[in-house]
Amino acid sequence: MATNWRIAAVLAGVSGVRGWQEELYRDLHQHPELSHQEHRTAGIVAARLRGSGFSVYEGVGGTGVVGVLENGDGPAVLLRADMDALPVREATGLAYASTAVASAADGDEVPVMHACGHDMHVACLLGAAQLLADGREHWNGTVIALFQPAEEVGDGARAMIDDRLGELLPTVDVALAQHVLPAPAGVVGTRSGPVLSAADSMRIIVHGRGGHGSMPQATVDPVVLAAMIVVRLQTVISRETVPGEPAVLTVGRIVAGAKSNVIADHAVLELNVRTYSDATRTAILEAIRRIVTAECQASRSPKDPEFELFDRFPLTDNDSDVTERVAVAFAAHFGERSVELPMQTASEDFSDIPAALGVPYTYWGFGGIDPDVYRQAEVAGRVSEDVPVNHSATFAPVIQPTLDTGTEALVVAALAWL
Ligand code: ZN
Ligand code: ZN
Repeated sequence: MATNWRIAAVLAGVSGVRGWQEELYRDLHQHPELSHQEHRTAGIVAARLRGSGFSVYEGVGGTGVVGVLENGDGPAVLLRADMDALPVREATGLAYASTAVASAADGDEVPVMHACGHDMHVACLLGAAQLLADGREHWNGTVIALFQPAEEVGDGARAMIDDRLGELLPTVDVALAQHVLPAPAGVVGTRSGPVLSAADSMRIIVHGRGGHGSMPQATVDPVVLAAMIVVRLQTVISRETVPGEPAVLTVGRIVAGAKSNVIADHAVLELNVRTYSDATRTAILEAIRRIVTAECQASRSPKDPEFELFDRFPLTDNDSDVTERVAVAFAAHFGERSVELPMQTASEDFSDIPAALGVPYTYWGFGGIDPDVYRQAEVAGRVSEDVPVNHSATFAPVIQPTLDTGTEALVVAALAWL
């Protein structure tokens, strides 16, 4: 019971942080920033961390911020939040809805919205950092509060690592992260093993020989070649991967030609692959290359196909011991509100950080939907229609109990080590 007493002592400060935390959340929600442009958010984060007594490193991997609070001998726990928003036009109708616009990486002006809830992650971690700092007489060790840029484009974690993250930090023992999800607010969910898929996008150019649409014998038609590839790729998941292990291969884009009576000289295909084990991931990516190369040969393609991988996200594979420890702590604190998280088809780059530091990790989810709204949708059998999901223009967590739950989850999990 000693641990529970310590948790209660640290969380006794919740009512003191809730006020500024809710205000900060609304402010972040109204001022979202695209990936790698999180300057305002990073400034707010750094100022708050300094105010809580953390040593602060700014500009790590661009706009990343790291706060370190050393409090005697003991384990070092890294808590991570992501900060970026999405090019989505907000349609929540909230009083604090975003009307922000920004220049995307390609220069286009786009609307910006915190449609994935990263503003909630930032507010929760800043609150947890303050609570742990104020309650430092109740724990020993080191807390690292890491605020990562550019999760949505999959390279923010990597940018921080490449910018000497490992040198800035003391030796880390465990890394923890969380995401708000379209589940009832107040609920937390943990899962051991693979929890989020690895994602890989691949751009493929296949070459033909262009010519007149009336003289196919003088050409190599890349449209027919691309069509054969699309059909043949459907056999990868159905015939080459283990039944029962989820995997997805989608051809999301195919471009060739400009006119009905001209045979094009090349076609472009863009694929997305989702997997839950490194072995399956490697096998599928190899199968794609093999099939595309063979179909090009079968079609008399005059030039080798070209492959380019992009938008790659690592597998999120929760360590079983770490997850167990967090799940036990959550069960003791949240009771029935602690559940098992179903496997998610989304992807994340968080695990790049513990992988680079060589430490185990776990990543959990917490609900952000008004519990009454969720229950009504469930009763009506309309969850997928009525409950907005991350990245949709109507996704915005209810502030409470989402904020309290995400804050408590970070504190409770961190104290399982400290
Ligand atoms: Zn997202
Ligand atoms: Zn997200």
